[in-house]
Parts: sequence; structure tokens; C-alpha cells
Amino acid sequence: MDTQAFKRSLHHSDRYNRRGFGSPAKRAEALEQAYQSSLIGSIRDNGYEMSHGRLKVKLAEAFGFCWGVERAVAMAYETRRHYPTERIWITNEIIHNPSVNDHLRRMNVRFISAEGGVKDFSGVNDGDVVILPAFGATVQEMQLLHERGCHIIDTTCPWVSKVWHTVEKHKKHTFTSIIHGKVKHEETLATSSFAGTYLVVLDLEEAQYVSDYILGKGNREAFVERFSKACSPGFDPDKDLQRLGVANQTTMLKSETEEIGRLFERTMLAKYGPKDLPDHFLAFNTICDATEERQDAMFSLVDEPLDLLVVIGGFNSSNTTHLQEIAISRGIRSFHIDTPERMGDGNTITHKPLGEDLVTEENFLPDGEVVVGITSGASTPDRVVEHVIQKLIAISEM
Ligand code: SF4
Repeated sequence: MDTQAFKRSLHHSDRYNRRGFGSPAKRAEALEQAYQSSLIGSIRDNGYEMSHGRLKVKLAEAFGFCWGVERAVAMAYETRRHYPTERIWITNEIIHNPSVNDHLRRMNVRFISAEGGVKDFSGVNDGDVVILPAFGATVQEMQLLHERGCHIIDTTCPWVSKVWHTVEKHKKHTFTSIIHGKVKHEETLATSSFAGTYLVVLDLEEAQYVSDYILGKGNREAFVERFSKACSPGFDPDKDLQRLGVANQTTMLKSETEEIGRLFERTMLAKYGPKDLPDHFLAFNTICDATEERQDAMFSLVDEPLDLLVVIGGFNSSNTTHLQEIAISRGIRSFHIDTPERMGDGNTITHKPLGEDLVTEENFLPDGEVVVGITSGASTPDRVVEHVIQKLIAISEM
């Protein structure tokens, strides 16, 4: 499919809206009422620190709602006000935050269900309104909804659209897109739908495997088997790894994306030499500013003397998981929770260790003076962070 031509025609349709319905000032006001927190505001003003009795809380200097998420949530609320009686759907969670998604459900916004990764659009009818979330939707979904006569409200973050432009550039110049991302994540699914030939690599180790193959150190069958669900149809590692462009899911670990870019540049340099490198390697910076700021702030926070760290965000939120990885890499006791309700019933916490199922831990807050670091992912409202701090205060006073 000519994805660029499709997007151009969609953008000219009077059933497509990517600007929302309200003024930026009204939008900010509505969000402030729903999600902002005066406690967090005062902690920010106090150098990101707060003390209460034996408890000291240190906040990361950048955390929580990013610009793209604020915009998407506000556009979803505006959509409900603009279409008070129409059926409104959303193709996925608007963002990876349970409280925000529940709020939308209470506003009678329906979520498209998915069985085994396949979405069921059978209930969506001509004239329905469909919101596309902050991390976008695949071009096939957009096409289906457009052909069905739906009104599309597109809240895709411009940083995500920038990655789509990048892979389209790769396609135009017959480069294979190496996408650093999680193959099942909605954003990476959407990005691959705009790409031509692509291969998704999860991390540096997988990128190294691809690099070794390019340099003649791999086995074709093993390669094809390993990436069978992470590449474009008909991908041939012997033909399709000669001209490479790198792109990424916007919420991956920035340092890893950069390292992967450098690895492929070195690989193509070794294989083709400096003169021909531009014909074989293209790099664009597609790391989102908000992700970068939150990760940098987390690196500063973990340099502080902390007894433990609480990372707040949806369990399927990629950017939150990467914050948790930073804590783990420094050996700090850390707890990933998605809602304040995970703490309570005495000094207990139910949290999700990286890559594992939920576990409940008793007496997680130690006795005596205790310093707790806190950060939250880009989909977490300040009010949720405030409730977590209130719970910590209550536990420290027991
Ligand atoms: S994390 Fe970045 S790409 Fe994702 S919504 Fe926020 S600003 Fe946009």
C-alpha cells in the first residue's frame, strides 16, 4: 500500500480530525482539574523533596504525564463533549494508565476488544466516532475505519508520527528499517505498518546477533526462525540487510537505541567501507524528548542515597518498565506498581518485578529513617503519585 498517499487522502477527509476541538488553554484547565496535584506542586517547589516524620521522599526531576499524553487525554475528553450522544470507540487504551482508561469508560467510551492479539471491529458502524490513541494505530486499522464511514479523532503523538515519517523515508530509498522496539507493542505494530521492509530488534543483544549475521557469522535457518514474527513478510536476511536505516519505539531506553545505531553504523562501515557507507546506512534521531528527560532524571535519582524506589505506571507501559530497569541496574530495591491501591493493608505492597508476575511483599517499608525515591511513567497523572505518597506517609506513621 502507498501509505503516504493514503495518509494524504485521510488528512483531507472531513471525517478526520487530529487537532481536537478545544483551545489549548481550556484543554490545560480541564486536565488540571482532573489530574494535577497541589502536593506534587509543593514538592517540586521544594527541590523535589519532602520530609514527614521518619519518611523522606525524593522525586525524580522529570516524571509523569508528558506533553503527548496530556494532549491525547484532553482530546479524548473533548471528543466526548463534542459528540455527546454518538457511540465513541477507542482502538486501544488511550495511554497505558488504568485510572485514565477507567475514567474514559465511565464517560461511555468503548474499547475495541482484542482476542489473541486480533482486534474485533465488528461492532463499529458507519457514523461512529473512533479515537486513535497516543501511540497511534496501524495503517490497516485507519483504512478500515475510514472505509466504514467512521469519524476518526487521531491523538497520535507527533513524536510517534515522526518515526512513521522516518520509516517511510527508509522505504522510499529502499532501505530496510531496523526498528528498536517491542514487537507486540501497539506503537511498534503501527510503525511497522508504515515501513516497507523491516526487522524489529528488542535490545542490543538481538542487534548484535543481526550485526554478526551481516558480517557472515550467522546461520540462515536460525536467523529466520528467531525473527519469524519480527519482520516484514518475505524478509530475506541475505538480501534485506544490505541497506539499513534505524528507527525506534519512542519509549525505549535512549542509551540502548543510540548504542544500536552506532553498532549498525560500525557494522556497515566494516562491510562496505567509509566511501560507500551513505549507501548502506541511514540514521535519524527518533528518540522522544519526554522519554529522554525522564530517563535522565531517573539516572540522577538513582545516584542519590535511597533505601528503596517506587516506580509508578501501567504494567504494559514501555517507558515505565525502562525506568524500572534503570533502578535494577543500580541494585536499588525497587517496586513497580500501577495504582496506589497496590499499597496497604498494613505495611504491604503488591508489585511487579521486571518480567515476572505480581508478588506481594510484607514490611516493605523498613523501620527507622527511610528515604524513598519516586518516579512515574509518561502516562501517570500527578494525582496518582500524590496518592502513593499519602499511602507511604500513612504506613510510616503506623
Ligand atoms: S512518551 Fe514521547 S512519544 Fe510517547 S506520548 Fe509522550 S511525548 Fe509522545
